[in-house]
Parts: sequence; C-alpha cells; structure tokens
Amino acid sequence: MAKRQKRKILFRFMRVILAVGIALFLVQVRFDFIESFFYDLRVRISPSPNVTGQIVTLAIDNKTEEHLGGYPKALDHVVLFERLAEAEPMAVVYLQNMEEDIIGSYEDLEVLAEVSEKINFFAVDDTRLPEPGMEEYFRLLPPLQDLRLRSAPITADISTFAKDGVSRRMILSFKNESLLHLELASELNKISDASQYRGSFVHKRTEQAYINFHKPGSFSRVSFVDIMDGNFNDSDLRGKIILIGRDTRANINDYVTTPFSRDSTAMSRLELHANIFETLIQNSAPIRSPWWLDFLATALISILTIFVVMAVRPAKGLTILIITIAFYFTFCTFFFATGGLWLDMTHPLLSIFICYYFFIPYRLIVENRKSWEYYQKHALLSQVEEMKSNFMRLMSHDLKTPVARIQGMVELINRDPNPMSPAQEKAVDSIGKSADELTSFFGSVLSLGRIESKDVKLQLKSRDVNALLKEVVAKCEDLAMQKNIKIITEFEPMFSMKIDEDLMRQVFVNLVENAIKYSPEGSNILVSTEEVNGKVAVQVADQGIGIPQDEIPSLFSKFYRAEAARDSKVKGSGLGLYLSNYFVQLHQGQISVESEPQEGSTFTVELPMGL
Ligand code: ADP
Repeated sequence: MAKRQKRKILFRFMRVILAVGIALFLVQVRFDFIESFFYDLRVRISPSPNVTGQIVTLAIDNKTEEHLGGYPKALDHVVLFERLAEAEPMAVVYLQNMEEDIIGSYEDLEVLAEVSEKINFFAVDDTRLPEPGMEEYFRLLPPLQDLRLRSAPITADISTFAKDGVSRRMILSFKNESLLHLELASELNKISDASQYRGSFVHKRTEQAYINFHKPGSFSRVSFVDIMDGNFNDSDLRGKIILIGRDTRANINDYVTTPFSRDSTAMSRLELHANIFETLIQNSAPIRSPWWLDFLATALISILTIFVVMAVRPAKGLTILIITIAFYFTFCTFFFATGGLWLDMTHPLLSIFICYYFFIPYRLIVENRKSWEYYQKHALLSQVEEMKSNFMRLMSHDLKTPVARIQGMVELINRDPNPMSPAQEKAVDSIGKSADELTSFFGSVLSLGRIESKDVKLQLKSRDVNALLKEVVAKCEDLAMQKNIKIITEFEPMFSMKIDEDLMRQVFVNLVENAIKYSPEGSNILVSTEEVNGKVAVQVADQGIGIPQDEIPSLFSKFYRAEAARDSKVKGSGLGLYLSNYFVQLHQGQISVESEPQEGSTFTVELPMGL
C-alpha cells in the first residue's frame, strides 16, 4: 500500500479515537440544567397520553367556596361523604390538611369520622415521610385519630436534577414500604413491588420514577358543591379513585410548577396527584436511557462532526450538522412521545459544538498550508509559462527575417530567365513551400503569444465580408490548383459590417486552407455566405477526410490535431482553429463544425451584424 494511503488511514483512525475520547470525557460531565430544558420541551411537544378514566378529581373550587361561603365545613363534608358512599367509589383520597382546613365542632368531626368509614377513605399528608414503624405517631388528632393518614409526598427538583423547583418525579416507596400512590395503583395493576415499575430508580432510600405528565385538564373533574347537591351520576364515580383537593387559585401552596409551565399556579396539587396515580396505574413512567447509549450516540455524532468538518466544504458541512441536530432532536422526541424513552440530548448535541470548534481551526491550518503549496506551485508554473512564451515569440520574430530572405531568393531564382534543370526546379519549389509553411507557423505562434499576453485588441472597420472572402479565395487558389481542387463560391449580397479585417482574414484563410489540406485531389470546396437572424453565416464545406464525432469537442484546443491529420502527411501546428475560435469570439460570434469521416466537413462562422 502506498505510504500516502497508509497515512490517510492512520489520520482517519486518529480522528475516530479523538471523537471517542471527546465523547467519553463529555458523558462524565452532567449538564442537568440543559438536559432538563430538553426534557421539558419533549414533555411539552409530545401529545398528551391517554387516561384510563380511573381517576376523578373532586375540586373544592371557587364555585364551591362562593356557594358555601368559604372552605366547606365538617358537616358539608359529611353530606359529601354520604353522597359518595352511595356511588361506591374504589377509594377517596383527601389531599387537604383535615385538621387545619375543616372547621367544625368536636361532635361534627366525630360524625365526619364515622361517615368516612363508609367510603374507602384516606387522608393524605404530602409533606412528611414517617420512618417505617413510627406510624403510631403519624396520626390525626381526636376525634379523627382513627382515620387512615397516609404519606404521599410530592417532590420538586430543588437539590437534584435541574434544581429549579419543578415537580418531575414521584416517590413510590420509602425504605421498601410502599406509599399511598403505589398502594392503590397496585390494587388495579397487581404490581406491588416498587422496583418492578417502569423507570423506577433508587434515590436516597426511596424508590422513585419520573411522572408521565398529562396535559392540564386531562382528568375528569367535578365540583365539591355539585356532588353535595347531587348533580352527578353515580356511575361516573363507581369504582373510581376520587381525589379531593382545593383549586381556587387563592393559595399558592395548592400549586406546583411542572415541565409544562414554570408559572407558580401552573398545575394544582390535585392534578399532580392525579398524574402520579395515572402513571402508576398505567405503569408508564419514562425510562432514562442507560449511560452507554448516551455515550454511543455522543461518540457517533462526534465522529460524524469531525469527518464533516475535515472533509466537506464549510457551507455544506454546516448544513449537514444543522440537519443532524434537527434529526437527533426529532428522533429523541419521537421515542419519548411513543415509547416514553428518555434519550439524553445534551451530550450528543454539545459534542457537535465541541468537535466543530475544536476542528475548524485545525482545518483552517491544513487548508492554509495546502493553498500556500498551491500558490508556490502556481507561481513557478506561470514563471515557466512566461519564459516559454517569451522564448517562442523571440524565436519566431528572429527567424521571420531569414525565412523572408529565403522566400525573396526563391522568387528571384524563379524570375531568372535562365532555364533550370528539372531537379533544380523541384528543389527550388520545395524550398519555397517550406519557407511558406514556416512563415505561416511563425504567424500562428506570434498570434498565440499576443493572445496569451492579452495583447489582442479589435480594430473594427466597416468591411464587406463577401469582398474579404473573395480575396481569401483568390489567395488560396494557387494551393487549391496544386491538388486540382475547385473552390466554388455562393455569396448572398449583403451590407458592409464592422469587423477586424486582419483577424477575420486569418480565420477565413485558415478555414479554406484546412479544407484544401484535408481534402483529396479533384474534390470541390464550397465557400458561402448568408444572412440569418441579424447574423452573417460564413460556411466552408469540403469533401475531405472529415472528423470523428468524439474528436470534435477538442478541435478548438491549443495544439490539438485529429488522429487522421496526425497520421496523414499533411503538416500543421494545431493552432489554426484555436486562434480562429478566439478571434471569432472576440467578435462575439461563434464557430462550429459538422463533419462525417470520409464524407467531408462544414465549418460555420457566425458573426453578429451590429457589433
Ligand atoms: P492544423 O495546423 O493541424 O491544421 P488547425 O487548428 O487548423 O491545425 O486544425 C486542427 C485540426 O482539426 C487539424 O489537425 C485536423 O485534424 C482538423 N481539421 C481542421 N479542419 C479540417 C477539415 N477541413 N477537414 C478535416 N479535419 C480538419
């Protein structure tokens, strides 16, 4: 394997190692604040899960307080409990503080305690968590001392996770003793062990899980006063868990902040408990992905980022990375919404930024070095190119004079009346032809030099193209006669137009000379003009060797000669068509060719009339 190839593979391998290293380092650092933001965002955009209908919230609301002239008294509760008893609910959970909130005489409270026995009643204390075995001291004061008081604490992320006071978790058990939510849920779903619940984890001697939040207003809700007044169907409450709590917006302690909103009255405690019960009944708590999955996603995205930064153009790279971020976000949200799977977003997304900012300067250094090398090479090349052009120009220029002298001598000899031997005549003729070829070659090289040094300027003059062509044909007549070729002309009468006479003469001479050079003896050449759509079209058609289709695109390149021309004895430089094309383009025209091998070629020059 080539050394360069090996180095390339080694570099790639090192990039992968680096990406994995970055991922490994990143997953060690917790970015709970950012992750909680993404967590809440997912909760908010995911569709609200379905409810089982097992939970009914019974609200002590403004309507109730207006109706009863304040918080319901002990005897109001007695009426309520009597009504509930008729409906036979599965359990009634009282979320307010019975001792502080319910006003009534000792006798009234005694009646209340008595009535509550008819319903499966639980009084809740959601602020304290008694040590197992200390239940004796966890009681209400007489005459309510025999009511079942249960701990069902609600939590807020004050010292853990986001530390922003938002309620996201629930406590299932404390020191292996199930708390009220789990106790009631297990009656329905038969899962009594906290560790068997989806997404449960141990936290400070408790088993906890994240709450699968339902959007506010998802649970069925009745008003305390409506039940008291009998405005309900027994069947709506039969077999249900009824949660009683206050929701008047008057007391901030009745509310919690949730992933949906940080507003201080975002969700009532009543609704939060409903969410906790529902999550447990459905066993649908979100599961946080294990650390290795987080690491895998971070490593893969790091590798992708490094390769994109190093190999792709910056604008395209940025687009790819933005698409990756959008894709990963959608991917995580999809799994959260459909499977309650909580994939960490922070580490993979942060890895994109870290790898990006780490590797962009590196890429810049590499690019800089490359462009410096390129610049050096380019400078050297243009120096060589310039030297070559100078040399060619000097040579052509200096050689022109001696060749002209040879041509003069040949003419002088030809004009001499003294007869020559046939051999001498042939030699003089050959010298003359070679001198002509050299002159035409020098002409081409000099024109090339002028083009390359951008020294060609159009000298436009009004000129009759037909007249110019007649002159060209007359000039080439000699050459044609030597091969017994007939040049036919068909000129459409037309007005004079602005052209650079010298340059266009060079173009037409080249086309007609080529037609003669590449045609067999005794054939015909047609030179024609016509006016089409404000343009003058000059055509030179021959019956010569033609050009294969695949060679046509290269014809107008510098020094290009078709294979058939190279094989034939016809001499040429491969510069004629290159120069012709350049000169025609200077006139804002174009040159094209149609050809069929062994049939002939037609070159067409189109020039705009109003240049
Ligand atoms: P050259 O000096 O070789 O004629 P040109 O640039 O004038 O250079 O032409 C380039 C090539 O195009 C020629 O070498 C030849 O292969 C081909 N060519 C040009 N004109 C004709 C033609 N009339 N018939 C066949 N081939 C032609």
